[in-house]
Amino acid sequence: MKIFNSMTNKKEEFVSIKPNEVTIYICGPTVYNYIHIGNARPMVVFDTLRRVFEYIGYKVTFISNYTDVDDKIINAAKQLGVSELEVANKFIKAYEDDRRNLNTIMPDYRPRVTEYMDEIIAFIGKLIEKGFAYEVDGDVYFRINKLEKYGRLSNLNIDDLQVGARIEENKAKENALDFTLWKRTDDGINWDSPFSKGRPGWHTECVVMIASINHDQMIDIHGGGMDLKFPHHENEIAQAEGCFHHAIANYWMHNGFINVDDEKMSKSLGNVKWAKDVVAQIGANVFRLAMLSTHYRAPLNFSEDLITSTTNEIDKITRVLKQAHLQLALTNYQSRTLNEEVMKEYLVAMEDDLNTSNAIKVIFEVVKSLNQKLRLKDQDINIIGRNYYALLDMLHMLGIYIELPDITDADLALYHEWLKAKELKDFNKADELRNKLEMLNIL
Ligand SMILES: [Zn+2]
Repeated sequence: MKIFNSMTNKKEEFVSIKPNEVTIYICGPTVYNYIHIGNARPMVVFDTLRRVFEYIGYKVTFISNYTDVDDKIINAAKQLGVSELEVANKFIKAYEDDRRNLNTIMPDYRPRVTEYMDEIIAFIGKLIEKGFAYEVDGDVYFRINKLEKYGRLSNLNIDDLQVGARIEENKAKENALDFTLWKRTDDGINWDSPFSKGRPGWHTECVVMIASINHDQMIDIHGGGMDLKFPHHENEIAQAEGCFHHAIANYWMHNGFINVDDEKMSKSLGNVKWAKDVVAQIGANVFRLAMLSTHYRAPLNFSEDLITSTTNEIDKITRVLKQAHLQLALTNYQSRTLNEEVMKEYLVAMEDDLNTSNAIKVIFEVVKSLNQKLRLKDQDINIIGRNYYALLDMLHMLGIYIELPDITDADLALYHEWLKAKELKDFNKADELRNKLEMLNIL
């Protein structure tokens, strides 16, 4: 497997920490609202990454957190007149519904910030002890000057950043880029701590959760949207280096943005598309294939054209699979061997930094060849079978599942009856039987 590592800006051969095991951590949602299709992109991309790793023999541990402490949640709770916990619970449930509706495998760990408060407070205490953090009037900041180098992941010019940060300078900070680890406040949900009554900043939770779940070890892959590189991931790296003196992850992966009809998706433009609405409208298969049609690092333009062409593609795949499925049932085909050649071609694309657009091209080569083979008078059922099963495995890695019927002997008898009626030019009967077979999802 080759992965483009955002830390080195290079495509690198993936080497896991433990043989045949991979630990992936993806920064999850702040649960104060439904997620839009931009948030659903990492969900689909990293689920596909997981599926590919599993297919090629890795044991995957997948962690994705919920940020359930945040100003946005506190504001939503105030507006709705409910507790922060109720807001978080509602939107965690909505998020998990989206996940299920998108055929994603549920992460193995789904930690919530509120469950890790003791660890977060202890971690901040440790950073203070080591001189990597300081307290001013109950607020705690990370001291970036103590690091050898800050800003390695985002490759940003620290001097430029400092100029920007000084504009909104907080006089309490030693360096304008020092970031908040703990904020003193009694407005909204808060906790007692040795520093003050308050709550943690956003950047600490992921480091603490990773350390706690992974027993203070590094993880293999840390990922998220491109927008998380700076400051969020940069600050995670800074804290891990300060506290553990080692990096937090070996590989950093970031997915690109989504535009809607060539425009940036934003509240002010009124073009925000909620994932739940889009999935309800077009279904998980079309949604996932559309999301994966573009390489994950490139921007993706979500448009009516994309939905239409992807819907046609899913129809094409469905038709050929159904025909092959029927032919295999008619010949009582039992073998489950794959067309290894096309499978290999597909995996070469997937293992090239998850090049899903090239992998999808392989799928359509197989669809085309299956169509040709099915049209032949002299069918080779072994070739059909091998391509059919290869296609199912390829689709499984994309999280795409086409509904195929269980074909019984009675169904097959019906099918033969239909062929017979056609042969005898008994068109009324043939139509009637055809309708039945369509109802059974066989034709
Ligand atoms: Zn994070």
